[in-house]
Formats: sequence, C-alpha cells, structure tokens
Amino acid sequence: MAKKKKTYFDYAATAPLDRNVLKKMMPYLKDKYGNPSSIHKFGQEASEAIDEARERMAKFLGCKSSEIIFTGSASESDNLAVRGVIKAIRRQKQAGEKIHVITSRIEHKAVLETLKDMEREGVRASYLPVGRDGIINLDDLKAEITPETDLISIMYANNEMGAVQPIKKISQLVEKINKIEEHPIYFHTDAVQAAQWLNCNVNYLGVHLLTLSAHKIYGPKGVGLLYVKEGTPIASLIVGGKHEWGLRAGTENVAGIVGMGAAVSQITNYKLQITKMNKLRDKLVQGVLKSVQGSKVNGPKILEQRLPNIVNFSFSGVEGESLVIALDQAGFAVSTGSACTSQALLPSHVLLAMGLSELDSHSSLRVSLGKYTTLQEINQFIKTLPRVVERLRKISGR
Ligand code: PLP
Repeated sequence: MAKKKKTYFDYAATAPLDRNVLKKMMPYLKDKYGNPSSIHKFGQEASEAIDEARERMAKFLGCKSSEIIFTGSASESDNLAVRGVIKAIRRQKQAGEKIHVITSRIEHKAVLETLKDMEREGVRASYLPVGRDGIINLDDLKAEITPETDLISIMYANNEMGAVQPIKKISQLVEKINKIEEHPIYFHTDAVQAAQWLNCNVNYLGVHLLTLSAHKIYGPKGVGLLYVKEGTPIASLIVGGKHEWGLRAGTENVAGIVGMGAAVSQITNYKLQITKMNKLRDKLVQGVLKSVQGSKVNGPKILEQRLPNIVNFSFSGVEGESLVIALDQAGFAVSTGSACTSQALLPSHVLLAMGLSELDSHSSLRVSLGKYTTLQEINQFIKTLPRVVERLRKISGR
C-alpha cells in the first residue's frame, strides 16, 4: 500500500532543519569537536566557528557581535532578558525602591511565567490588554508608564495568530521618555516568529533587547539568542565560566550556533518570500472560509498587521484538539492554541485576551505555513477540511 503523504502546516511550532544548514553543522558534530575555550587548535577552530556565526547574527540584526549572547533556547533568552535586566537594576536601586515591568497579555509563556515568578519576589507587573485584532493600544501603554517603570517587554509578532505589534512606535515612545526622565526604561522584544518575515534590524526597531530562536528559521533546536544593546544593565542567570561575556556559563553548543548562523544567512529577499507566502495564505483563508460553514479567522484584519504565514481559525461546534487529531489522521499536521495541562485543556490565553469566548477559543486551529509549503498542499487541505469538520460536528451532535 502506498504510504500516505504527510503535510506539515506547523512551522510556527518548529521548522524543519534546512539541508544546507545541516551540512554546515556536520563538521562540528564529527571531527571538529574541540571545546571553544581550549587553547589548542581544536579549541581554536571551534571558537572561530562561533565568532563567525556571531558575526552573521550581528549582520542580520545590525549590531555589534559583542552585543550577541547565544543561549539554549528563546525561552532562556526571554528569561534572561526579563529576569537578567531586573536583577541588574535591583542591584543599582536602593533597598525598598519599586521595580515595574510592563508586558502584554498575549506574550509567550516564557515571558509571562517569568514575570509571574518575579511578582512573587515583589516586582510589579502590568499586563496590557489587546483589541479584538490582537494588537496593543499605545494609549494603554502610555497610561501604564510611571517614573518607576524599568522594563517593557512586548513581542514583535504573536505565535498563535500572527498579530504584529507596533514595536517601532513603542521604542519611539520609550526614547522620548528616556530623554527627559532620569530613570531609563529598557525595551525588550521577542522576535522569534518575526525573524523570517519582518525587519529585525535593531537600530530600525530601536530596542534594547531582542530574542531569537534558531529552530523557527530552519536551524537546529536548542539554540537561542539574546541581543543586548551596549550599556543595558543585565546580570547572568547561569553562573560558572565566563562564556558569552560572563552572561551565560556553559560550554557552547558549537554545532548549534554554527547552524543558527547558517540559518540566518539564508533569510534574504523578504519581499519576494512575503509575496509568495501572502498568496498561499490568502488562498488558504478564502478556501476555508468558503468551504466550511461557521468558520472565521482570528487576528488582525489589516494584512500589514499580520505575519504572512500564520492563520488562526475558529470552527463553531468543533473542539480544536479533536480537529488536530482528525486532521493528523487525514495527513495534515496543524495545531491549536490551547495549552495541554495534566488536568485539563486550557483555552488559549491569547484568544481569551482578544475577547473570544472560552468556547470559541477551544474551537481554534492554527495553520502555519513555511518555505516548503506548496499550492497543492493548500488545495488538498481545503478539500479535506470540510469533511473532517462535518464529521466532528455530527459526532458532537452540533
Ligand atoms: N517566543 C515565541 C514567540 C515563540 O513562538 C516560541 C516558541 O514557540 C518561544 C518564544 C520559545 O522558543 P524556544 O522553543 O526556542 O524556547
């Protein structure tokens, strides 16, 4: 029997490792195994490979290579950005002085959970609401900023429904305040989902800290990066050796870092890629809305305010998790926004923040496309989905 074709529509969860990237990594998984801290030739070639990857990352971000810190994941980078900056600021402040951080309700859990943890340690955190389009309102942000505000962390683009936040406008506001206020505000953005599609030049964005992950850009898993603008106070969370400018102890993941550098070098010609992806995405959206009754798209209506590759649908009367399983059986790998805990399936915090009901949040489906997605795959999906949704609606009696 012929093997059923599997279609991958979960690029926002992770992207396949690009073959050229793997090729660049292989020598460092085999013969070039030196520890970059060693003085001998083995060590030197590993250390040079890291330097080269760092330079590639710096070129991509438009910063100095000394402003790049390689980590083990974007989650770690988010933790380091939020906790590391607060730790350093706390050391500068007098005892009893308040610490204040502003973020949004739709951030990745790596930011939200870090902040929840820090609230237990006396940090005050403000969680900005978002509109139905999933975008924060600048007036809400302005209203939250006080002379005590130390850090703002707002993601560049959301991983569940693709809304793009006004990062440049936020940084302009921060810059204006920092010019007149004695006490500076630092601004971090999680650009994990944006890297493939949007301008991540840190001078253009005007951020002090920026997070990236290698496995979302066709690089290896287990490598992240934090850009830290020169002069930004930050303290390490993992201590030991003086790796990564003393900010992240531990022998470097040489092959992984080389892979991240190779992956980022392949991100060129955004406009062409965006045009191709927009076409596929539009085909998907139109096809689904037309063929499945009771379906809708969650997230911004304005195209410029959304990533070209992520679409979040709701299908009335269908449980997102059941749909993911049924589609998997039909050969399509998609996901939901729900977080599965041991006890219960929680509705997505992102969709709830956008004002969706628990029921609608539970009936959501994320389809995320990537550079290997084809028009045939989209067409096949549009053909299959109505049958699968109908069958599930019948089973649930809705
Ligand atoms: N931030 C965002 C926006 C993400 O989408 C993800 C992964 O889904 C992460 C952070 C965490 O990335 P990593 O898997 O590298 O820890």
